[in-house]
Amino acid sequence: MTAQNVDPDEVSKFEAIARRWWDPASEFKPLHDINPLRMEYIAERVDLAGKRVLDVGCGGGILSEALAAAGATVIGIDAGESPINVAKLHQLESGYNVDYQHTTIETLAEESPEPFDVITCLEMLEHVPDPNSVIATCASLLAPSGNLFLSTINRNPKAYLLMVIGAEYVLNMLPRGTHDYEKFLKPSEISSALRDNSLTLNDLTGMTYNPIKGTYHLGSDVDVNYLVHASND
Ligand code: SAH
Repeated sequence: MTAQNVDPDEVSKFEAIARRWWDPASEFKPLHDINPLRMEYIAERVDLAGKRVLDVGCGGGILSEALAAAGATVIGIDAGESPINVAKLHQLESGYNVDYQHTTIETLAEESPEPFDVITCLEMLEHVPDPNSVIATCASLLAPSGNLFLSTINRNPKAYLLMVIGAEYVLNMLPRGTHDYEKFLKPSEISSALRDNSLTLNDLTGMTYNPIKGTYHLGSDVDVNYLVHASND
């Protein structure tokens, strides 16, 4: 890998626990739990059948496999070697066919810049040194009428309280140190990065967690976790 928009400490956190990626009772439970909701969000906005899709920061492939199941031709990329290996092994069992590559979007754009109809980059921007570079490279790789889906965590005291103190220290839902508050991204920062790259922000939707019921919901509250839909129309 030649591109440098990778924080090795961030990637090693995922390398260390990657073997448990597909265990729905593990640290990855939240990703398993939110996957149907984010798939619903994406599938409501684009018809995935036959589309060429890039899943950036795919990890063990929870979203990539669901995109493939919806009929898309999927390339999944990740800066971590273990998550990619786990993803490759898992699809042998599940039977989905995703092209997994251990690389970054910047390197992919340099080496094989063929456009994608849809690019997804979920729960990853808050782990990279330069999220604007990821968004700019996504924009450069989108085909005409292309769609971009992002998700990340807002930066404010409530997000700190729920995502860092709550999820990591009180509920023990995530390993301590999973999230670095400084790297959280405000919707205004995402929308200005989209604008800088001539992308239109079509929708911003919040994803909230109910700790009593253990369930997630989509809605208008973007204070903590949120999903973004942008396009280059
Ligand atoms: N998008 C997946 C996984 C999120 S976990 C999902 O939502 O299900 C974050 C992933 O981003 C990890 O697998 C980590 O290795 C990866 N990652 C971190 N920095 C990266 C970078 N610069 N390029 C690609 N992947 C990166």
